[in-house]
Amino acid sequence: MEWDKPATLLLEKVPPFVQKVVREKVEILARERGKTLVTEAEVVAARESFMGKPNPQRTMAKKPADNEKLSILRKYSKYFDKEGNPVLYQVKSCRGAEVNCPFLITDSGILSEKLRNRLEELHFTEKLIDKVEGQILPHHSMKLAVSGCPNSCSMPQIKDFGVHAVEPVSVDPDCKCIECMKCVETCREDAITVKNGNVTIDKEKCVHCGLCAKVCPTGTIKAEKKKYRVMIGGKVGRHPRFALDLLLQADESATLKALDVCADIILSSKTEHRFRTLIEQQGIEEIKKRI
Ligand code: SF4
Ligand code: SF4
Ligand code: SF4
Repeated sequence: MEWDKPATLLLEKVPPFVQKVVREKVEILARERGKTLVTEAEVVAARESFMGKPNPQRTMAKKPADNEKLSILRKYSKYFDKEGNPVLYQVKSCRGAEVNCPFLITDSGILSEKLRNRLEELHFTEKLIDKVEGQILPHHSMKLAVSGCPNSCSMPQIKDFGVHAVEPVSVDPDCKCIECMKCVETCREDAITVKNGNVTIDKEKCVHCGLCAKVCPTGTIKAEKKKYRVMIGGKVGRHPRFALDLLLQADESATLKALDVCADIILSSKTEHRFRTLIEQQGIEEIKKRI
């Protein structure tokens, strides 16, 4: 049975060791449909039928023009999913939950998955492919990172969109401090002063790691609700930049809204400037107002 060019290009994206089997299955499905020529429609239908529920977002990316645009990116497997579909965002998580890290505030993998899902719902990959004229290059892909505490092992400060969990603390005036000094010994930022039973926390120094609340035996220092610090526009390369603070203590919903806004800035820009440049053109304060 003959295959047209777009269908052949799709088949070529399948790992070589399964191409023969896939070809046979697609041709069986095409015959069942009374076709004598295999087109992209048969390949997509066959994949949906073999793999279960179709993924509309990913099937959208299967246009022949996309294949040409993606030829350079194909040298890097990290920009493609298991089915060979492009994914133009990478979300890195720290391994805090996996290794039972003592500093862990929140499992970074959970938010990472939500960020991935949100970009998928927004059809970020397809829209970015449509937007970029010419070849898609690695720097076009959006880089994200989430860390489970301010130690930031997944390096959110050098990503387009970075997040780390925070656990703000406060002093409860109704609890009596016994001056055990455990909080002072624990705080790496030298942010706590205990004098005559009075406890003060220097908000300029505190990074909201929540560790002092964990060691306080009297509940004088209490942990508040866990939040996220969201920063954007970090980058390495020729002109490295640390990310700028967008939200200091955001809940999950505000964090996802911030991602929507950032994705919109990238996708609606008429130019192909790096995200950091777009942020500097718009101004971080203007971006904050949109969340
Ligand atoms: S970022 Fe924090 S929670 Fe995650 S691995 Fe590093 S120290 Fe542990
Ligand atoms: S939350 Fe962390 S940085 Fe802030 S005062 Fe407590 S131990 Fe220090
Ligand atoms: S750990 Fe708690 S009880 Fe001990 S000095 Fe600090 S605030 Fe006071």
